[in-house]
Amino acid sequence: MDTYYIAGKYVLEEAVISVNDMSILRGYGVFDFLRTYRRRPFRLQEHIDRLACSAKLIDLALPHTKKEMYDITMETLARNPDHGEVSIRLVVTGGVSPDSITPQGNTTLMVMVTGLHTYPASWYEEGAAIITTNDERYIPGAKTTNYIAAILALKRARQQQAIESIYVDRYGRLLEGTTSNFFAFMGDKLVTPEQSILPGITRQTVLECVKDDFDVELRDIHKDEMRMIDEIFLTSSSKEIVPVTRMDALEISGGKPGERTRHIMKKFSNYTKEYGEQGER
Ligand code: PLP
Repeated sequence: MDTYYIAGKYVLEEAVISVNDMSILRGYGVFDFLRTYRRRPFRLQEHIDRLACSAKLIDLALPHTKKEMYDITMETLARNPDHGEVSIRLVVTGGVSPDSITPQGNTTLMVMVTGLHTYPASWYEEGAAIITTNDERYIPGAKTTNYIAAILALKRARQQQAIESIYVDRYGRLLEGTTSNFFAFMGDKLVTPEQSILPGITRQTVLECVKDDFDVELRDIHKDEMRMIDEIFLTSSSKEIVPVTRMDALEISGGKPGERTRHIMKKFSNYTKEYGEQGER
């Protein structure tokens, strides 16, 4: 059984938080999610920085300093020695409030370590289909515990044999997936949105890895530009880099993973391998 950290204690996974917590009653909370490579948490400090940023964006008090959250995460990982690679979820819930809507500054940190979920090899070898959905996230820079739009959009995607749904906002911009960032090769440019998205850590890592290889443009991508897209890939902590071969009815890169996408997948895989091998510095 997995050991979780919840509000000051290391407990077994059946541990609970109050039913009166504002995360449950109002969806008021934030979280972050990362994975390990060779049991080294990937860019943990950046995930904690983003968690703090998410909290700030929704005016949620953090129950610990960043340093404490780092140490608690490492300790929770150490208390789960039986898994190989793991996913780590840090959640800060809104806390209990007498009228259930006024934050009291009594937020709760939970750190959950579980075995890594993996995805079908065919996604990476043959590419995957995605759809677009007209919707947008509330306060997109924050990773909040409200994923209702994502749950609905992903359900629609699966009904159409697709693995992800890309939000298209009221201005017709292709923003990001329900749990991933969106990249497109258009001509010789690698383009990815910069505004109105969650700043993905995998996205950032990819941008660093490819800065000498491609001309990168951080800008809005309009749905009208769809036909000018040569290659698409998605990035996320859990899925890493997924090549896309169909978006809605449009075939992408001849129905197989694009060559430049493959190059980036290889670079990213070398990078994470090395990251894991270097261990904690
Ligand atoms: N965008 C959204 C809305 C997400 O939920 C996620 C991750 O779950 C991402 C992007 C990708 O972020 P990261 O690469 O940090 O996992």
